[in-house]
Amino acid sequence: MTATTTDDYLAAAAALDIRTDIFIDGRFVPALSGRRFPAVSPRDGSVLAEVAEGDAADIDAAVASARAAFEDGRWARRAPMDRRRTLLRLAALISDHREELALLESLDMGKPVVDALSVDLRVTIESFEYFAEAINKVYDEVAPTPHGTLATITREPAGVVGAVVPWNFPLMMASWKLAPALAAGNSVVLKPAEQSSLTALRVAELASEAGLPDGVLNVVPGFGPTAGAALGRHMDVDVIAFTGSGEVGRHFLRYAADSNMKQVSLECGGKSPHIVFADAPEVATVADAVASGIFYNQGEVCSAGSRLLVHRSRKDELLDALTEAAAQRPPGDPLDPSTQTGALVDARHLERVLAYVEIGTSEGARLVAGGQAARQETGGFYIEPTIFDGVSSSMRIAQEEIFGPVLAVLTFDDDAEAVRLANDTVFGLAAAVWSTNISTALSTARAIRAGTVWVNNYEGSDITVPVGGYGESGFGRDKSLHALDKYTQLKTTWIAF
Ligand code: NAD
Repeated sequence: MTATTTDDYLAAAAALDIRTDIFIDGRFVPALSGRRFPAVSPRDGSVLAEVAEGDAADIDAAVASARAAFEDGRWARRAPMDRRRTLLRLAALISDHREELALLESLDMGKPVVDALSVDLRVTIESFEYFAEAINKVYDEVAPTPHGTLATITREPAGVVGAVVPWNFPLMMASWKLAPALAAGNSVVLKPAEQSSLTALRVAELASEAGLPDGVLNVVPGFGPTAGAALGRHMDVDVIAFTGSGEVGRHFLRYAADSNMKQVSLECGGKSPHIVFADAPEVATVADAVASGIFYNQGEVCSAGSRLLVHRSRKDELLDALTEAAAQRPPGDPLDPSTQTGALVDARHLERVLAYVEIGTSEGARLVAGGQAARQETGGFYIEPTIFDGVSSSMRIAQEEIFGPVLAVLTFDDDAEAVRLANDTVFGLAAAVWSTNISTALSTARAIRAGTVWVNNYEGSDITVPVGGYGESGFGRDKSLHALDKYTQLKTTWIAF
């Protein structure tokens, strides 16, 4: 398939052969309960497939399979060079199927299909390639111990990893966990979000085709409070790697405390600020980055730049340019290659985002763009790109993660106030500093409590740099070699001679 028009994508969608069962021990099986739940397309509200609804019993079976695979060493004890080859084959297979997977992702969670292809699939492939290539190039350590002793510090796979991921970049978020966890020799049970199970199931099948031994990767679709909680509480899971909301992240900390003290890492939400100083670059450059920073992927991005902190002297020109940019990104059919704003993931989330528009208005902020549901005639879940001006930092729309295309604009008068506003949040995932003065840019970047700070750009990134948060944005890092820390144990072996 090489689709270029909406009709091409529709034809390809009609021909999709969707995997809907649980993937355990190298095979697709129905849920033990026999239950299924609908995968609803946010594009038009239609049911794409009925997916097997995994629960605690299926998680038990998946963990048992992962544990057996880990203990007999069919993957963990393979030479890193061999693991590299298998994961490179998987990356190549995902690449061969990237149009199919992008289409599935777009249909399942509402993002524009062209973005699924150019971002989600590209990054997913890069992620598998990067960790495959890394794993036979990282060395262990020898400690500087006294004469007559030798102490080695070696990395060992942690064991059985439970990966729990959200729906906003379903495959990409999964790949940030699967690639380092598998490269390091672990066995994995992946629980995709119930809104977006389909691509994970297909990739599990491709992993088998690539030669990943049975049981090393298991995928159990199902709901959070049942399947997700069972994984979090499981006594035989060694590590939980979670991406999602702070509320559910807290649950995983409790699950670990109440069970086997498994190691937990959390990639949670954000309320990331742009700080636009008086000497920021030209307005077109800043407006373009701010608009895509909040409207891209319908604002369903953990690091969305949802707060614009702008020096009073630059506010009017920037707001005009942003209002124009919002108007140029009307919600459209995710399968139309010209669409920049697709559908929100489901009806519940649309209601939640619309409720925040009401909250912003009732708090006294001024709605200057969007704010309305759109394309209701399609049966899908769309909202216009939305901007609030006159926001103050104590308002809920300045403090809470909306996870939709809603920008809150605040003004400041001096540098100290800018930093204070930027840090006036429980989150600390990302921020951007816009200034042509290197001292202002770097001193502000240092002063901001966030895992990533962009200077004169937004969302600049690749697989070589870590991503993760300060504060309630979580802890632990995805991507880069640092990601291996989450999936490995350090062992000291002290030898006397
Ligand atoms: P969510 O927290 O509702 O769900 C995430 C996952 O947790 C899903 O698989 C879900 O089924 C599971 N889950 C839900 N309730 C559970 C429970 N009680 N016990 C166990 N598991 C449970 O998040 P979401 O709505 O899917 O995604 C949006 C959130 O993800 C936002 O807060 C966003 O900021 C965050 N996110 C963070 C990053 C990052 O890298 N920091 C990246 C993407 C998304």
